[in-house]
Amino acid sequence: MRYAVLSDVHSNLEAFLACLDFLKNAKIDKYLFLGDIVGYGADPKECISLLRALNASCVAGNHDWVAVGLTDIDYFNNDAKRSVLWTRENISEADRLFLSGLELVKETKDYCLVHGTLNHPEEFDYMVDARRAVKDFYALKTKVCFLGHSHRPGIYIEDKDRILYQEPVTLALEEGRRYIVNAGSVGQPRDQDPRACFCIYDEEASSFKFQRVSYDVASAQKKIIEAGLPGSLACRLAVGR
Ligand code: ZN
Repeated sequence: MRYAVLSDVHSNLEAFLACLDFLKNAKIDKYLFLGDIVGYGADPKECISLLRALNASCVAGNHDWVAVGLTDIDYFNNDAKRSVLWTRENISEADRLFLSGLELVKETKDYCLVHGTLNHPEEFDYMVDARRAVKDFYALKTKVCFLGHSHRPGIYIEDKDRILYQEPVTLALEEGRRYIVNAGSVGQPRDQDPRACFCIYDEEASSFKFQRVSYDVASAQKKIIEAGLPGSLACRLAVGR
């Protein structure tokens, strides 16, 4: 199986379409989505319907849950709050049902999906460093875990009793090691690279490959401004922060 692993689209239709266009010819068998289809951007409805059409295996992000009142809006900063309230007004009843139905964790025999971290996924904590990864490896039952939320791609590797951190490069999986992979963000990267980011997991080849895709940032920004969303949400797209 070849999986496309996407996360944190954040209602950025231009970025999402650019990634899907790239993936058309990438021989993908299954799409995995790690949460935050909505929030920040101006096209929540369109992004939800694209995601649903992919028949992806999905988990819930904090922005998905807060849009339907399943998590507390007080945890969000002012710009995020404004976008939450705007998103609530700009999705349909069917969208609400879809977001409400997303679970926090999905696990198969081969891999596990979560938005933030695996121990206490309902807290939407950030995977920030190898120390934090220890707790998640403890909770992990499979060889591979995919997560998002920080919008910063990277790989944590459990090798016996140590945890290694690997920058997002193409990586061959090794016997006896386990992996927590942050797939980065499609719609709002925060690693100083404004291009959309995702990961391809090839089970047969036993490899992770990170991919960056350029998209029409100016159009996404224009829509954010025209929707009356905070200007900072448009500005950050250009710099990837
Ligand atoms: Zn996010």
